[in-house]
Amino acid sequence: MKLLSRRQAIVGAAGAGLVGCRTEPNRASAEPKDEQALATKSGSARVVERIIDAQPTRDGAGVKLKRALGGHALPMLDPFLLLDEFHSDDPNDYAAGFPSHPHRGFETVTYMLEGAMEHKDSVGNSGRLRPGSAQWMTAGRGIVHSEMPKQERGLMWGFQLWVNLPRASKMIKPRYQDIAPDRIPELDQEGARVRVVAGTAFGRTGPITGIDVAPLFLDVTVTKGVRFEAPLPSEHTAFAFVTEGAVRLGPSRAEVRAGQLAVLGRGDRVLASCDASSGRMVLIAGRPLGEPVARGGPFVMNTQDEIRQAWDDYRSGRLVDGV
Ligand code: FE
Repeated sequence: MKLLSRRQAIVGAAGAGLVGCRTEPNRASAEPKDEQALATKSGSARVVERIIDAQPTRDGAGVKLKRALGGHALPMLDPFLLLDEFHSDDPNDYAAGFPSHPHRGFETVTYMLEGAMEHKDSVGNSGRLRPGSAQWMTAGRGIVHSEMPKQERGLMWGFQLWVNLPRASKMIKPRYQDIAPDRIPELDQEGARVRVVAGTAFGRTGPITGIDVAPLFLDVTVTKGVRFEAPLPSEHTAFAFVTEGAVRLGPSRAEVRAGQLAVLGRGDRVLASCDASSGRMVLIAGRPLGEPVARGGPFVMNTQDEIRQAWDDYRSGRLVDGV
């Protein structure tokens, strides 16, 4: 969704050169050490390692955003590169949208909660993003796309997540999965409302398929008194971003409020509960790639040479097949 100038700023801020593939060492653990030891001993409920406040920024042609992942505080969580939330009922914050721009080497995921956006790309795809819909775009070797608001007023609310591709898939043919709201399974899990966007949970499998990092993407709403427990592949990197209210996460029930991202430690399940009237979060997990990461504007490759090549290809019209 990013325009070049803004993404270049991010490269300087967070992703210049080769970036380490794991998150930074824990600077401030959100749970006491004995809680972490207890969790490890008892099996493997994931503890909350860090809580990050999403930071206000602008991107695209000036769209107001909050960046929870991909900024100074948390440059990346292998394989996840960026998480932005857009949430405003002021058209001045979103009307400019995300005009035509390129990507190579990773995937962009858009998840809409409210409002409408139109997507078009150089491969010939177009689609309408509406409340409850998801779009998983695998840029592969190159795509040019735009995402523009299709409303003049009212609330626009959603997310964009960037997911890295492994070296072997960075130059694959672009792919686009446009998922209408009614294709996303929604279930009640002991009082928690769960939408399964990607991966499998509680016997239901989300509609997104064929993604290298085998993602789990759940939209979970818990209410007061509900105790939510979900299995997570133990080798996956995982985090939760709270979208509404507050959620208590992990064995020590760390409070994570709307606009905060919780990095989850190792383990094979996640625990969530709620003391407020309700809390909602996206819970996201994926297999880490463990490869060098080179970022350059709208491109994410393994080396700076490959970034230079992407710019050359874009400027000379070779980034996109047939364009
Ligand atoms: Fe984009």
